[in-house]
Amino acid sequence: MIVVLKNKVEEEQKRQLIEWLEGQGVRTHLSEGEFSTIIGLVGDTSAIDMPLIESMSIVESVKRISDPFKRCNRKFHPDDTIVDAAGIKIGKGNFCVMAGPCSVESEEQITGIAESVKASGALMLRGGAFKPRTSPYDFQGMGGEGLELLRKAREKTGLPIVSECMGVSDLALFEDVDIIQVGARNMQNFELLKALGKVKNPILLKRGLANTLKEFLMSAEYIMAGGNENVILCERGIRTFDDYTRNTLDLAAVSMLRELTHLPIVVDPSHATGIARLVPPMALAATAAGADGLIIEVHNDPVHALSDGAQSLTPEQFADLMVRINKVREVVA
Ligand code: PEP
Ligand code: MN
Repeated sequence: MIVVLKNKVEEEQKRQLIEWLEGQGVRTHLSEGEFSTIIGLVGDTSAIDMPLIESMSIVESVKRISDPFKRCNRKFHPDDTIVDAAGIKIGKGNFCVMAGPCSVESEEQITGIAESVKASGALMLRGGAFKPRTSPYDFQGMGGEGLELLRKAREKTGLPIVSECMGVSDLALFEDVDIIQVGARNMQNFELLKALGKVKNPILLKRGLANTLKEFLMSAEYIMAGGNENVILCERGIRTFDDYTRNTLDLAAVSMLRELTHLPIVVDPSHATGIARLVPPMALAATAAGADGLIIEVHNDPVHALSDGAQSLTPEQFADLMVRINKVREVVA
């Protein structure tokens, strides 16, 4: 349920109403936008007397929300959310390109790639230290040592870092990671989502391989319900019947999510296609569709990459793509 307040309500009246609502056994979430103030009610609202609230002098309207996701719902929070990751803003017109290798492989590799993607205009460095691989025999990532190398690359270039945390037991290692990624395979790891609700780091939540947008938003809701509202959604392709591409990029999801939620939405054209030559057109299409950013795999030597070489751009290809992304942004602005 949401309670929309009239314009120019005094702070004291607002406070009294919130106190009264919480006395009815629900939790409240205040959203003060440019044009309206909304109090969201979370919990069992079945006993709430809607007409009574509607009759209050400071109340404009009361609406029931049937969607199961509340905190991430745009009805709760009409303004776009801006997530701030170490000073880099994402959302509400703040466009952010995150780039880097699938896996951190060595100090020279991650630092070299960080320098080149920064020179091309990337605002954040991505790199997997803990890798969710389909086969147990494939490279599993450098673990804590990989995070250490990301920190070195950050120190050298100033680029904030984004890296995946695969489980609650590793979370303590991520305290100073600027954005913690939840991988597609972990989108419904509810214990991890609950734990991420208790940290301060912004979270990049990737859509599961075969999850609906409602399930995606419910996973964001888990993190937000725990107290961490800094969630960025990432569309990274879903499993469909076609197998020419690694996944099928669901670009309509960007527009649909824009209607449903106030959270920033980024697109990962690398995992969505699995093929490097398809990454630039899909990155441009996602930009035109209104994404708030992109996360793109870049490797200095894709042929010898320890993971996802086939979908990785070279630093030169990435530099060329950034020029075109900026042109598309100018056109759609
Ligand atoms: C990744 O970003 O390297 C990754 C494994 O992504 P996803 O979880 O989307 O497959
Ligand atoms: Mn990858």
